[in-house]
Amino acid sequence: MSQGKFENQTVIVTGASSGLGKACAIHMAGQGANVVINYHSGKDKAEEVLEEVEKKGGKGIIVKADVSKEDAVLKLYEATLKEYGKLDVLVSNAGMQVDAPFLDMTLDQWQKVIDINLTGQFLCTREAARQFMKQAKGKKSSTAIGKMVMMSSVHDIIPWAGHINYAASKGGILMLMRSIAQELAPHKIRVNAVSPGAIKTAINKDVWEDEEKAKELLKLIPYQRIGVAEDVAKAVAWLASDESDYVNGETIYIDGGMTLYPEFSDNG
Ligand code: NAD
Repeated sequence: MSQGKFENQTVIVTGASSGLGKACAIHMAGQGANVVINYHSGKDKAEEVLEEVEKKGGKGIIVKADVSKEDAVLKLYEATLKEYGKLDVLVSNAGMQVDAPFLDMTLDQWQKVIDINLTGQFLCTREAARQFMKQAKGKKSSTAIGKMVMMSSVHDIIPWAGHINYAASKGGILMLMRSIAQELAPHKIRVNAVSPGAIKTAINKDVWEDEEKAKELLKLIPYQRIGVAEDVAKAVAWLASDESDYVNGETIYIDGGMTLYPEFSDNG
């Protein structure tokens, strides 16, 4: 493998057995990172990601953990340190949707999404920060002592009827990320987020597989294409690299202009 910008760096990617997490793990392994491929269910899919990483000459391990459970997150970090001895980057990506109209939403539906999408981000970023602090005086592999990229969504600023648990979790990530960034910046830890718009993955398969729904969706995307996972992986890698060393507490919207609110271009 050629020298890459993550050579000798350890990168944890949560929810890496599919979609955006998978693309991030493969892309960053291709740039020299040792990747920790976290998965929740479907070990075979995680193994396929590792195979793909190894085929390209990269290195990684797979670790099962539910990001919403504190003991599981601690074990994920233990496994990472046992294998690689240090951590350089967290890509806190795991997330899911449980949709229901607000009037019908049960507490369980609310809680499940908040637990995984928001509490999971809290647990994973806190453990990453604790580990970065322990490494502060050691040999550094990049300018910052550690970097985190949190996976948010355009729904951290675009309200989403019928998905209020999801939108609330992503809105929560926005201020969680900015507050962590403010607190950790003096320690030379960088924290940023990416907010994808519509990217073709399992999470929204029902939309892009249906011709009519896909056509409707394109009306919301000025750039007139649905995104692919690599669009997101490239931005995540940039935010985790020294190339973005002066970027801290920011969210990059990767959405083909969805947050330009195209409905207003000839209306309102
Ligand atoms: P996906 O369903 O392919 O990936 C989600 C991953 O999270 C899966 O691998 C799943 O196993 C994992 N996961 C779920 N619960 C978990 C848990 N408790 N512990 C650990 N892992 C868990 O969908 P995706 O589109 O790749 O989603 C990844 C992230 O991107 C999510 O946070 C999602 O909200 C966000 N996102 C996606 C889009 C999009 O258009 N695809 C847009 C905006 C934001």
